[in-house]
Amino acid sequence: MRDGTRVVRAGLPQVAQGAPFLPGPTFAGPYHFTGNPSTSDYTYGRYHNPTWTHFEEALSELEGGPTTVFASGMAAVTAVFGVTLRPGAVLVMPSDGYYTARMLAEEYFAARGIEVRLAPTAGNTQGELLADATLLWLETPSNPGLDVCDLAALIATAHQHKTFVAVDNTTATILGQQPLQLGADFSLSSDTKTLTGHGDLVLGHVATRELSWTERLRAFRSQQGAVAGPMEVWLAHRSLATLDVRLERQCKNALAIAQFLTEQPEVRQVRYPGLPQDPAYAIASRQMKKYGPVVSFVLEGEGQAERFLAACRLILQATSFGGVHTTAERRARWGGDAIPEGFIRLSAGCENTQDLLDDLSQALAAFSLDGEKLP
Ligand code: PLP
Repeated sequence: MRDGTRVVRAGLPQVAQGAPFLPGPTFAGPYHFTGNPSTSDYTYGRYHNPTWTHFEEALSELEGGPTTVFASGMAAVTAVFGVTLRPGAVLVMPSDGYYTARMLAEEYFAARGIEVRLAPTAGNTQGELLADATLLWLETPSNPGLDVCDLAALIATAHQHKTFVAVDNTTATILGQQPLQLGADFSLSSDTKTLTGHGDLVLGHVATRELSWTERLRAFRSQQGAVAGPMEVWLAHRSLATLDVRLERQCKNALAIAQFLTEQPEVRQVRYPGLPQDPAYAIASRQMKKYGPVVSFVLEGEGQAERFLAACRLILQATSFGGVHTTAERRARWGGDAIPEGFIRLSAGCENTQDLLDDLSQALAAFSLDGEKLP
């Protein structure tokens, strides 16, 4: 079956007379069970939940490996660090990936005896830091800079060093890129973003190539204890059905926006892995089936970027990405990333393409009339 069908059907139980296709969420702390806990599928809500089971089965089918749902993308990151890293371990991370994951490594795990080595995503430079490494962490396309690295090549090098590889696949999604098929040991995602796409929940997951890793991740989840709510997981499963449709429109909009922006004199450094002239294009087109919804570009300075964003009528200011609503933000307002003050991360939603281009046009015109146009 093809992607559009797989996402609609993934994880649904066998049809039964009078039963819904996707059962509603199960709200439960304790479940009734007698005797030995191993004789009951469900015992206590921190260990398991039927709504998690349906969603995990759906993601396991799509990822190609057993999957565990977590309360957020960061909970998924923490669990992978937690099960792989012991004092003395070496973690190799992108210097330009999602900054909270980097902060977690540098502020929390480094203080507990983990050596953290950083290198940029572009040019596969992380591959040069693998001596005695325990875990190679990859994020491609990187958030927010949208550089890419060669997954198959880096995974092969890491495995020669006996280093495990985790890929944060949030920006691409499982329909855009398949880390486990490229040899990664862990494929994880913030499902707060494109995978669920409606801006109504926070969630994450980790898929593995080996069941033994999944068992350790599930034990970590039960012990650490901040688990996902059944309502969020059910909403996520419902939203998954439209992933292919949403992503198709979002990628079409992202490419049109990126092409439009490259033609505007006020705009610099437009990045989108699906633009043929982008430095990421050659590798991205080899390993990605879709290029994702995120585009980045630079305006001259903080004031100009803020004025441009304020002039947008349809494009909403918000952080995060991947939703049906097109959003943008001046990323440097958060700090933490080595980016220019005028750097804007835009996430293309599902609106009509021409309406989005019209909004960008009018916002750039308003911004130019402000006398802020670059020479
Ligand atoms: N990984 C990437 C690439 C992200 O962009 C984010 C959030 O922005 C996360 C992980 C963390 O996800 P969450 O916000 O769901 O905890």
